[in-house]
Amino acid sequence: PFELRGKSVYVAGHRGMVGAALVRRLAREEVRLVTVDRREVDLCNQAAVFDWFARTRPQVIFLAAAKVGGIVANNTLRAEFIYDNIAIAANVIQAAHQNGAEKLMFLGSSCIYPKLAPQPLREDSVLTGPLEPTNEPYAIAKIAGIKMAEAYRSQYGSDFISVMPTNLYGPGDNYHPELSHVVAALIRRFHEAKVSGAKRVIVWGTGTPRREFLYVDDMADACVHLMKTYSSPEPVNIGTGEDITIADLALMVAAAVGFRGEISLDTSRPDGTPRKLLDVSRLSRLGWRATTSLTEGIQLAYRVFCAERDGRLQ
Ligand code: GDP
Repeated sequence: PFELRGKSVYVAGHRGMVGAALVRRLAREEVRLVTVDRREVDLCNQAAVFDWFARTRPQVIFLAAAKVGGIVANNTLRAEFIYDNIAIAANVIQAAHQNGAEKLMFLGSSCIYPKLAPQPLREDSVLTGPLEPTNEPYAIAKIAGIKMAEAYRSQYGSDFISVMPTNLYGPGDNYHPELSHVVAALIRRFHEAKVSGAKRVIVWGTGTPRREFLYVDDMADACVHLMKTYSSPEPVNIGTGEDITIADLALMVAAAVGFRGEISLDTSRPDGTPRKLLDVSRLSRLGWRATTSLTEGIQLAYRVFCAERDGRLQ
């Protein structure tokens, strides 16, 4: 196994939902945690990244920085999603190589799999068919990152690995009404409906798409586990292995929030890919499984959401 103890560990994207969870999780390891503010180093700026790496020389890197968003953000900010994410991956991976990093983990996404790939999605179905059009720019950038990690391993022998998280949610999520992912969007919408006494909440699409959801602190735990134990070119899916329909998710969020009104579907909104369930057999062979149930995770996320709202109102 790879020893983390005593190492300098850089979490790129530490203010994001996943990066912040990694920082929480790494507090339980004996490491020297390194982070840097976006105002100081813009990860899209090659010169800034190269300069910072040459001065800091982190030994271990979790590359959790990305421009992310839900189906609308992905589909409308198409240029920003492809440019920022390619730039971040290219700059950080090359800088890690140039400065002799011992290990790097690149965080991909389950949207890199072809729209119609067999479910559950296996790691070897990358690049076997066309992508879901709504998030193709993001997916292409993430595929570039995975292929970079593979290429640096094969040409330079770098210990660079990549992981493919399923849809994530939890503390630190983006709660923007239009641009967020579905769990955050529904937590906010049901909460606001409850508070204002509204009778009806709208859920986008047909309610029939199926998604798998992983609590972000479970994701961080899986990343640390794989950083210590995994060293191969093939990516590793990170998920729960279970999915539910968006309609059922809406019922769960309504129950967690305590909204008792009606739910209606807005079918003018896009469904996106019909199903996105990861095959997590590689991950389970590697000795990890998720421990937070979706019910429990939504409650935890909702509690933090309320605490942050109250904090802002004071
Ligand atoms: P995706 O997994 O990349 O499609 O990302 P999202 O989390 O944005 O959407 C997942 C599914 O939830 C899609 O079928 C959406 O149409 C559906 N959905 C239902 N209501 C909402 C909402 O209010 N916001 C978002 N983002 N998605 C919603």
